[in-house]
Amino acid sequence: MRRIAAFVVVVACVFGGAVLVRGTSADDIAERARKLHFSSIVLDTHDDTTQRFFSKSGFDLGKRNPDGHVDIPRMREGGMNAIFFSIWIDGRIMGPPAVQKALDQIDAVHENVRRFAKDMAFARTAEEVRRAHAQGKIAALMGVEGGHMIGNDIRMVRIFGDLGVRYMTLSHFYNDEWADSSTDKPAHNGLTDYGKEIVREMNRRGIMVDISHVSDKTFYDALEVSKAPLIASHSSCRALCNHPRDMSDDMIKALAAKGGVIQINYEKSFIDQGYKDAYDRLTAGAGVVGVLSEAIKKCGDDVDCTSKAEVGIERQMTEEGKLPHVSWERIIDHINHAVKLVGAEHVGLGSDFDGANMPEGMEDCSKLPKITDALLRKGYSDKDIRNILGENTLRVMEQVERVSRDLQAQK
Ligand SMILES: [Zn+2]
Repeated sequence: MRRIAAFVVVVACVFGGAVLVRGTSADDIAERARKLHFSSIVLDTHDDTTQRFFSKSGFDLGKRNPDGHVDIPRMREGGMNAIFFSIWIDGRIMGPPAVQKALDQIDAVHENVRRFAKDMAFARTAEEVRRAHAQGKIAALMGVEGGHMIGNDIRMVRIFGDLGVRYMTLSHFYNDEWADSSTDKPAHNGLTDYGKEIVREMNRRGIMVDISHVSDKTFYDALEVSKAPLIASHSSCRALCNHPRDMSDDMIKALAAKGGVIQINYEKSFIDQGYKDAYDRLTAGAGVVGVLSEAIKKCGDDVDCTSKAEVGIERQMTEEGKLPHVSWERIIDHINHAVKLVGAEHVGLGSDFDGANMPEGMEDCSKLPKITDALLRKGYSDKDIRNILGENTLRVMEQVERVSRDLQAQK
């Protein structure tokens, strides 16, 4: 910013200040970015804030909280006006208890939206997201993070859909009964036949197929079976950070070729190779799963407590110099890499707020306008930025809705 301002002053001096200096000053860009950001639909496809509704230490979505990454005041400040609340439980819980816990969380999301109806509106379609935005409200959506949560029962796909769930991640950190995970030993060679039937049922019910967390083979299987575009609700680029949770360039190209969107995850170990390597060394190669297991032991079933413990462990390691500092600008690097690879129509935002370690400068959702500002300074067009901020995901939702209507009409 300062460099551009200095350049303008130099040019003005050389020409005696008498000539018109063409170009945009730093402040002009900042103002343009602000206007662009706050008039756009800013849709984040993955937030683990739902876990906080069950926190034993108290959490109020309507108030500014001293910790965590998301609440209504900070969403307003950051212009985040559409959010997918994640429905998630540990992937080792399966069968009926998994279904029960999913229903508890789905109910908690609906209750919170009702409680804060002045600020929020529940959305089931792209059109409803746009309507909420037009009314100045935050659109609340839901995604089920992990196929284990249907309790190996395809009927739950329909029931979750009826309750408003609009995407399902096919697995979480562990393989489920019908899909292999990227962070577990392969057990099914990707998707089983039942898994493929589940993907078809998701298509029929208008539920987006989310391939974050799944193994590469599961991704390619799902891509082949699905009649609608897929999303990666919260994954980054493996070319910049070699993590199994991220997508290879080939996968990103295949996803985009079918109309899908990769929503960039801000987690430090997914966006910065140096950080990931240091983190892996510290956790003896067990990575995310190892640290998570330790934290779970201490906190029992209070997931908000687990998250806080994780943040504490991570902060201490960084302060001690065991983990490197990571700047929020790595997020821009990942957006830029994916855009160069497949174009701005196939990239979006999937922060993983309240479920991941945020890089410095992106401490919570109030910092989101920095992304728009950075992309504008890189020369991105207003249209490309609006697409990345939310329009791409809305386009996929519309396509998924169309496929669902067509498939249901065939019966
Ligand atoms: Zn996740």
